[in-house]
Amino acid sequence: MKIEKERYRCPVCGWTPRTGEGRKDWPHCPNCLSGIHGKNEEGLECGGILEPVGIWVKTDKEWEIIQRCSLCQEMTSDPMSADDSPVKVLSIASKPLSEPPFPVEKMEELTKIMGGRGDIGGYYHEQRK
Ligand SMILES: [Zn+2]
Ligand SMILES: [Zn+2]
Repeated sequence: MKIEKERYRCPVCGWTPRTGEGRKDWPHCPNCLSGIHGKNEEGLECGGILEPVGIWVKTDKEWEIIQRCSLCQEMTSDPMSADDSPVKVLSIASKPLSEPPFPVEKMEELTKIMGGRGDIGGYYHEQRK
């Protein structure tokens, strides 16, 4: 049995998962954190581009990306995943629109930590002294 799902391709930045990547659906693009707006509040298929506008810390371990649809302006949020680009996350989190989830002066330090790792999984560990 061969499951050949159509590969995800980000309509915004063109990102595609590596061949053999286990996941088949990507609620949002881990490279630019954009997504496609599926059903809106009225249950209609929208198809607009969901642009990341902020990050909010739901709980200590759960961060969500706040997205806004470029077509219908509906706001939605999507849980962040370990695949998400830490650099992109930081750049969105630092936007003045939302409260940064960490002190701004920590930014450079964080970028270094995350840049070297390429994943966000160990981040909390680093911060907890
Ligand atoms: Zn993308
Ligand atoms: Zn929409």
